[in-house]
Amino acid sequence: MSIEHSSDVVIVGGGIMGATLAAMLHELQPDLTLQVFERLEDVALESAEAMNNAGTGHAANCELNYTPVKGDGSLDVTKAMTINASFEMSLQFWSYLLEQGLIDHPGQFLNPVPHMSFVWGQSNVDFLKARHAKLSAHPMFGSMAFTEDPAVMAEWAPLLMVDREKSQPMALTRVDRGTDLDFGKLAHVLFGELEGRAGYALHLNHEVNNLKKEKDGRWRVFVKHRLTGEGREVLAKFVFLGAGGGSLPLLLKAGIPEGIGYGGFPVSGKWLVCHNPEVIERHQAKIYGKASLGAPPMSVPHLDTRMIDGKKALLFGPFAGFTTKYLKRGSYLDLPLAIRPSNMKSMLSAGLHNLDLTKYLIGQVMLSHEQRIEALREYMPSARSEDWTLEVAGQRVQIIKPDPKLGGKLEFGTEIVASADGSLAALLGASPGASTAVSTMLGMMEHCFPQATSPKWRSVLERMAPAHGHDLAKEPELLKRIRDRNDAVLGLG
Ligand SMILES: Cc1cc2nc3c(=O)[nH]c(=O)nc-3n(C[C@H](O)[C@H](O)[C@H](O)COP(=O)(O)OP(=O)(O)OC[C@H]3O[C@@H](n4cnc5c(N)ncnc54)[C@H](O)[C@@H]3O)c2cc1C
Repeated sequence: MSIEHSSDVVIVGGGIMGATLAAMLHELQPDLTLQVFERLEDVALESAEAMNNAGTGHAANCELNYTPVKGDGSLDVTKAMTINASFEMSLQFWSYLLEQGLIDHPGQFLNPVPHMSFVWGQSNVDFLKARHAKLSAHPMFGSMAFTEDPAVMAEWAPLLMVDREKSQPMALTRVDRGTDLDFGKLAHVLFGELEGRAGYALHLNHEVNNLKKEKDGRWRVFVKHRLTGEGREVLAKFVFLGAGGGSLPLLLKAGIPEGIGYGGFPVSGKWLVCHNPEVIERHQAKIYGKASLGAPPMSVPHLDTRMIDGKKALLFGPFAGFTTKYLKRGSYLDLPLAIRPSNMKSMLSAGLHNLDLTKYLIGQVMLSHEQRIEALREYMPSARSEDWTLEVAGQRVQIIKPDPKLGGKLEFGTEIVASADGSLAALLGASPGASTAVSTMLGMMEHCFPQATSPKWRSVLERMAPAHGHDLAKEPELLKRIRDRNDAVLGLG
């Protein structure tokens, strides 16, 4: 066992969150010493990897679960506005990096793809019409188009309409300023840019096993090389647990009061992947539908154009799966070992209150290939079974939070759990996840880094994320200015 020299910052996990934080911190304060520990042989092999997620730049253009219906029947668009503004923050940071010459052309990780929502049945059509009316009245979604005309739908999304029975009511919305992102590639680009910088080190094949608070307020981080078995300890002033599904077990080990009662429920994903180049070529959109009854919001089906390693692809899903692993390359003991006396109540009660989810997952796991193709045919009636194969996507660990009334509550968002003294923060949950990495990291830094309010940081932040501290939903002129810049630099719009 060797004791390494201390570090200002330790980042656990080489995914998109760790990469974003490392890149931002280096811009804000280049003299910070920063060590990243990644358990696998390369960065971004878990949820950030292109095939492990849907690559949607979540901006609430097409995700119907971000505009829920309120008790009085009206639509709540608050979440849609927040997510749209958060995504714009990510675009601002990437624009900044490009303008500074810190990264090359955006096309290596970002591609413009129209975002659409498709529904059928009168009540769903009424919902989409009301959603369009409310959203398109706001400058954030002013360009959203709506149609109930099958001929227009066939123009916007040909595969949607081939062989479709057109007698039932249908509707489609379209936002051209949508994106497909390769978060894995982006993480590589961000870490690659830091390589060779003074004070920065990335350690691959290094797993963080434990962490302990020292009397002087620093964290002692216990790391093991997975190939040689060699152990090391690092003393850090600040630790970020950006370990994806691996964050919860480490948060529990850290034992900060703010993490007490938290648990996690793993849900895996699967895609149908198209192998017919002619079919792939005929589609150019991300088309989201409505989640089926009892399905968790992240299981909303979508027919997705993707750009992976410069090659166009077509995916449908995700179908849900169940495993007790918290990471795709984790252990079956992850879930049982994460059940502690401190979170047993919330874990059990979340399980009891979500029996419909359990039922849904069992149903999903039992699906045959033909049944999955039937689900695909709701979006692409002409789909042929032989053109599609099933591939495993990434693993999400849904947050279970202590709840005074219920005992425990299952949540589907992304959340930062940070210690009161700001010396440790963990990122839990999965959605909208990667798309909102920049605003999530900014929020976390404000809590954990006292220098976040210093004139030095503020002046960098003003260039890095000009909308930071503003409400884009209420400042249409600023929104326009920021979008014009992002569109020009990133080739959007
Ligand atoms: C099916 C699916 C679809 C999704 N679709 C979208 C989408 O369309 N848009 C979107 O924005 N988001 C989407 N997401 C969510 C998105 O993938 C995540 O929000 C994002 O990848 C999380 O990034 P991360 O860096 O926190 O985690 P990860 O990318 O999982 O990275 C965590 C890293 O930590 C490492 N690690 C774990 N434990 C340890 C340890 N003890 N020591 C050292 N290293 C460790 C892992 O090996 C991994 O490299 C989707 C996720 C899934 C599963």
